[in-house]
Amino acid sequence: MYIMNPMDCIFCKIINKEIPSAMFYEDENAVAFLSISPTSIGHSLIVPKKHSRTALEMSADEFSKLSKAFAIVPNKIKSVVLATGINIIQNNESDAGQVVFHTHFHVIPRFPNDGLKEFPHADADKEELSALAEKLRSAF
Ligand code: AMP
Ligand code: ZN
Repeated sequence: MYIMNPMDCIFCKIINKEIPSAMFYEDENAVAFLSISPTSIGHSLIVPKKHSRTALEMSADEFSKLSKAFAIVPNKIKSVVLATGINIIQNNESDAGQVVFHTHFHVIPRFPNDGLKEFPHADADKEELSALAEKLRSAF
């Protein structure tokens, strides 16, 4: 697994204003800027200032420090672009679609009949669900 030096990280450079971005929000712990390849108008990224490779490495304290940005940014985007829904999506590792290895959260405005597809899903086998839930309970 390639571990990037944060000095080479494009999102650290955006946070430090070393390279330009369409940044529109900043607080002590996070920034938000528009994605350069948006899924819909207003597609933005909420990015913790502290570099981590994926969200799976973040502590509870680091997550809690993002609460202010999450309470403000998605609502503000929704009202500005007149969206009727918002997806908040977060990719960890290449197999999950992560391309930039500085943790970030996608805020994707949704509109009626916008044609965007949801993740596929199917009815679960109840016994399999119970067995997996038991396995998970015992893992905590
Ligand atoms: P992910 O696939 O979850 O790693 O998402 C990477 C996101 O970063 C995509 O939405 C890209 O459009 C966005 N992105 C990459 N480089 C930049 C940049 N320089 N400025 C703004 N957004 C960027
Ligand atoms: Zn970084």
